[in-house]
Amino acid sequence: MATKYDAIVIGTGQAGPSLAVRLAGAGMKVAVIERKRFGGTCVNNGCIPTKTLVASARTAHVARRAGDYGVTIPASIAVDMKKVKARKDTVVRQSSEGLQKWLRDTQNLAVIEGHARFADAHRVRVGDELLEADKFFINVGGRASMPALRGIDEVSPLNNSTVMDVDFLPEHLIVIGGSYVGLEFAQMYRRFGSEVTVVEMGPLPAKREDKDICENIKTIFEGEGINIRLNAECIGFEKRGDKVAVQVECSGGDKTVIGSHVLLAVGRVPNTDDLGVEHAGIEVDKRGYIQVDDQLRTNVPGIFALGDCNGRGAFTHTAYNDYEIVAANLLDGDERRVSDRITAYALYIDPPLGRAGMTEAEVRKSGLKALIAKRPMTQVGGAREKGETDGFMKILVDAETKKILGASLLGIECDEVIHSLLDVMYANAPYTVIQRAMHIHPTVTELIPTMLGELKPLE
Ligand SMILES: Cc1cc2nc3c(=O)[nH]c(=O)nc-3n(C[C@H](O)[C@H](O)[C@H](O)COP(=O)(O)OP(=O)(O)OC[C@H]3O[C@@H](n4cnc5c(N)ncnc54)[C@H](O)[C@@H]3O)c2cc1C
Repeated sequence: MATKYDAIVIGTGQAGPSLAVRLAGAGMKVAVIERKRFGGTCVNNGCIPTKTLVASARTAHVARRAGDYGVTIPASIAVDMKKVKARKDTVVRQSSEGLQKWLRDTQNLAVIEGHARFADAHRVRVGDELLEADKFFINVGGRASMPALRGIDEVSPLNNSTVMDVDFLPEHLIVIGGSYVGLEFAQMYRRFGSEVTVVEMGPLPAKREDKDICENIKTIFEGEGINIRLNAECIGFEKRGDKVAVQVECSGGDKTVIGSHVLLAVGRVPNTDDLGVEHAGIEVDKRGYIQVDDQLRTNVPGIFALGDCNGRGAFTHTAYNDYEIVAANLLDGDERRVSDRITAYALYIDPPLGRAGMTEAEVRKSGLKALIAKRPMTQVGGAREKGETDGFMKILVDAETKKILGASLLGIECDEVIHSLLDVMYANAPYTVIQRAMHIHPTVTELIPTMLGELKPLE
């Protein structure tokens, strides 16, 4: 006999918990199922722990530069990795436990621990229990991809989950993958004191960004003593005593990098391979992403997919936005859609990259007549005063409509500054609105109106 609910949420990532509480608050009998740790990737081995670790790494970095600011630290700077990890664990625990308590304290909401698999389109099995519902909301997220690279099993590489248990300083960390996750860990461990090599298959790190951004990131990283091996092909691993040899076969330089540890950061895969989607008839693409429409409905009536597992976003804010879209449609009579949202994210290296809308490369490809403004952070008073002048800001606008097309802001506090542009984009207002705004001095954001007064045709 199946236990009957009005709605079942599978997974407690960044969409599921809020949705479960909202549905329960609307009077539905709801169950939420979690197989591992409450809060999913972001809380346990994604955003929250990495940004907590980035904060420790930045503190070490600033302390080492204390002399630049006229501050003398008598002893040399040391990083206590056990304390760094303990601090991270405390922040993670508070978030995960807080979330769990919130769910358990919610009326009409049953919290079930275990792995859920669809038995058919109306029922899921969790261990011996069969649960039935009219509506299912899948929020199962993803995990680090483990490609079958030569010799990989010999070297037990770390990934974004297992690296969370590291409470020591790797002597030489080799990061495979120079994209968002890899770059954050690379800079963090360099600042903790490890030797770090990034091995990237593409021609530049963060290769989805514009070339000038990628090149600037490379310069910043190399300036901190991070080795970057680009155009790596036929990556292979070999255990050599207590060391790890990574064959990179790059176009130039030594073909093998010897390190103490390997961190694999080569993408993510959705957690849909063991969900029984085939029993419910839910359509997935060839990479396993659940196919959804603009309002996050799957092909099976009553079944929705939210967050990373639907392939429509790969961030906490996109997963949370998915929750808002589903809740608005089901409960508020507000027909919100995925296509209403504007691309926005940050890369949490230091200085951070804040991104909104199109890249310059995308604008060029679109054929739109555009204007561009660029300003190095050396010409930003707020950055100069803080002694952090790496990076530059770039804004693109449509020459005809005057709407902002996109921005890439690489510089101190740019993960926050980007929102001044993003909100004007959401308001669908012309850039002249922000150009006339009076911003506060001395901030990084105060230069945005100035930049918009310096727009030139995109050649
Ligand atoms: C290192 C790293 C850093 C990141 N930093 C950022 C950042 O700074 N900003 C940002 O916006 N994003 C960041 N992200 C991405 C962000 O973490 C994810 O986009 C976000 O967590 C997606 O959430 P989700 O709701 O899709 O699912 P997830 O958070 O992945 O959660 C899914 C949950 O479902 C559970 N589950 C899976 N299968 C089942 C099943 N069959 N039965 C029951 N439960 C199941 C899992 O155990 C998990 O708890 C980062 C990711 C990584 C890896």
